Amino acid sequence: MNFIKESADKKPIVDTVFAIVAKAKEAKEKIGEENVVDATIGSLYDEDGHIVAYESVFRSFDQIPDAKKAAYAESFRGNPDFRELVKEWTLGQGNVRLESSVIATPGGTGAVSLVMSEFLETNETVILPDIAWGSYALMAKDKQLKAVTYEMFEGEHFNLNSLKQQVNALVGKQNRIVVVINDPCHNPTGYTMTKEEWHELIAFLNETAKTTPCIILNDIAYIDYSYDLEHSRDYMREFENMSDQVMAVIAMSCSKTLTSYGLRCGAAVICAHSKESVREAEIVFEKSARALWSNVNNAAMINFVNVVKNHKEEFLNEKKEYIDLLKKRSSIFMDEAKACGLPVYPYKEGFFVTIKIEDNDLKEKYHALLMEHHIFTVQVNKGIRVGICSLSVEKTKGLALKMKTLLDQAHTI
Ligand code: PLP
Repeated sequence: MNFIKESADKKPIVDTVFAIVAKAKEAKEKIGEENVVDATIGSLYDEDGHIVAYESVFRSFDQIPDAKKAAYAESFRGNPDFRELVKEWTLGQGNVRLESSVIATPGGTGAVSLVMSEFLETNETVILPDIAWGSYALMAKDKQLKAVTYEMFEGEHFNLNSLKQQVNALVGKQNRIVVVINDPCHNPTGYTMTKEEWHELIAFLNETAKTTPCIILNDIAYIDYSYDLEHSRDYMREFENMSDQVMAVIAMSCSKTLTSYGLRCGAAVICAHSKESVREAEIVFEKSARALWSNVNNAAMINFVNVVKNHKEEFLNEKKEYIDLLKKRSSIFMDEAKACGLPVYPYKEGFFVTIKIEDNDLKEKYHALLMEHHIFTVQVNKGIRVGICSLSVEKTKGLALKMKTLLDQAHTI
């Protein structure tokens, strides 16, 4: 019997994260929580090992009447006040003067998925970072796209040359170019591009767009944990320099911003110079949304509006505590890594730090060796991800040196 269509990819998803999460859990049960370093989890955890759920967010959620929770959203594009506030939350803070529209999506995932669906034809190629959130490649495949990757780094900097090469290689071969940029607070390295890097990227895409229109998917899932929050949107002003043949779609996520991963709410913020181009994208996004998930969680949208309108100060203060905590954890790890010579990618801010290991064999051995020593991490392309978002300060202290000692050992196996 063969019920599934021939063209479907029937190989099960190898979810490396959840498999290791399970191993870490098992180890904790066996030898006690205090003896295990669980750096696998990608959500924000407090110092006592509990997931953070902001009071300001969830007490506000509790006040939403049942009838509102039960009801459908007001529109397939998302509730109007939610859409307006998301625009203000993303572009408004950076004062970006462009035509724009917002489509509510189930998490940032939904926004990324819309971009993967609506710009490229089947078998065309999307350009992804080589070290990246795994779902990009999964989504590309699911939409029957090919994917090529640009190298994230050239030394300590964003590798714009590699990205340019990948773009140039596609010019003349397809009608549009889609480039995925996960910035700021890149998952999994914690890199944030400079304003100059953004400037150069857009200048380059403007040139390319003279023959081939370009779309930037800017995934900002972790932006609200930028260490310099006040200036975290400044780079978006660079979008104003886009020619009218370049469009940016910003994938915004409430998951991290509000610590509400399970409420599945986010948005695609479409920006361009031409009103018609934005409207066209809005139309196809709305149709695709309607065909896929119909409408987005009504209570989650209402809650975003409530929090931003009525509990903003309380919410920002609560979030600031955790930004400070991330800063503390990351600087302990990075300072110690530097002191002992543990190779890490250029971290600036965000939930994760990644140990640089380009040799796959070595990475496998090292990852297993870490587990033997009760240190649980996640393998990513060219590295090992350490989730400082869920590691307490105590567990972070001394970790880099332990990891360096084991890395030296892995080299000898
Ligand atoms: N983008 C990146 C880089 C992520 O790491 C994630 C979640 O882990 C997302 C987007 C999407 O998150 P969500 O769909 O929960 O908003």
